[in-house]
Amino acid sequence: MAHKHLPEIEQLERIVALGGAALRCETRWLPEGLGVPALPLHLVTLGATDPQAPAVGYFGGVHGLERIGTDVVLAWLHSVVARLSWDTALHQQLERVRLVFVPVVNPGGMLRGTRANPRDVDLMRNAPVDALEPVPWLAGGQRLSRRLPWYRGSAGAPMEAESAALCAWVERELHGRPFSLALDCHSGFGMRDRVWFPFACRRDPMPHLAQVHALQAIFEASNSHHAYVFEPQSRQYLAHGDLWDHLYLRACERPGTVFLPLTLEMGSWLWVKKNPRQLFSRSGIFNPQIAHRHRRVLRRHLPLLDFAMRAAAASPSWLPTGDAADRHRQAALARWWGAGGTEA
Ligand SMILES: [Zn+2]
Repeated sequence: MAHKHLPEIEQLERIVALGGAALRCETRWLPEGLGVPALPLHLVTLGATDPQAPAVGYFGGVHGLERIGTDVVLAWLHSVVARLSWDTALHQQLERVRLVFVPVVNPGGMLRGTRANPRDVDLMRNAPVDALEPVPWLAGGQRLSRRLPWYRGSAGAPMEAESAALCAWVERELHGRPFSLALDCHSGFGMRDRVWFPFACRRDPMPHLAQVHALQAIFEASNSHHAYVFEPQSRQYLAHGDLWDHLYLRACERPGTVFLPLTLEMGSWLWVKKNPRQLFSRSGIFNPQIAHRHRRVLRRHLPLLDFAMRAAAASPSWLPTGDAADRHRQAALARWWGAGGTEA
């Protein structure tokens, strides 16, 4: 099933072949048209098959321009697959945790070199959820015209095929478990590497604030020199139609389950500052252009993807309950919502 159009899909298919029977790959085909051939959407799964086991989903390429997000997910999947032949500790982890990958959510946009899909819809503005407060003009999602960026799709229309497939897979593979995490890898926002959690549609705290605070606390405690800014997305901007808001709200309808969707926003303006010529390259703003910088970006983020697997596998050992949950919630409110919040 090698795909001759898109190197990222070719690479994914090579990794799947390398993984052999340890992986399962499910494919939905996006129809040809609008200047792109028929393209596959691949879901790759491995690890624990118990439906009550914790799970982690890794996603990339929701925005077709942000190839580095796909590259980070593929580098992590490749690392997992390459270790299957010898890493007994990894096998022990995989007995307890399920891993789910959709590294190229928007192959048509990637092929065309556009943020949106071939129908000009921004998939991260396409979910049926409206922000409760004013959003930035255009960038928060708009229905004025598909010729303008951040187009949501028309009101009342079904979700785009890519968004619908992603949502169906997340609901089937991640929701309904006692604990699951999603990590969706993007680039293009600001100078810092950020890890966002819901909401994008409102400023008030998510119901699972204690759990997300506990997760970042164990990450910070075990990676004392990390460079991420953890924060609710609403601290940066609000948006309509965020897929992770939608999926988080769906997950909240299932009592007794915790689903924490995180978005990694790699700070691509850092790359532009180091190489201003990227401003004049169509894909350059969103992707590090120089090979050594590309490799460094891939290396820098693999510990976070590895952490997500370990944290999910060990979730009963750190998920707070009772008084501990109250303390985490209070700490989170002080850090991100308090008058004296000092987040860098
Ligand atoms: Zn993005």
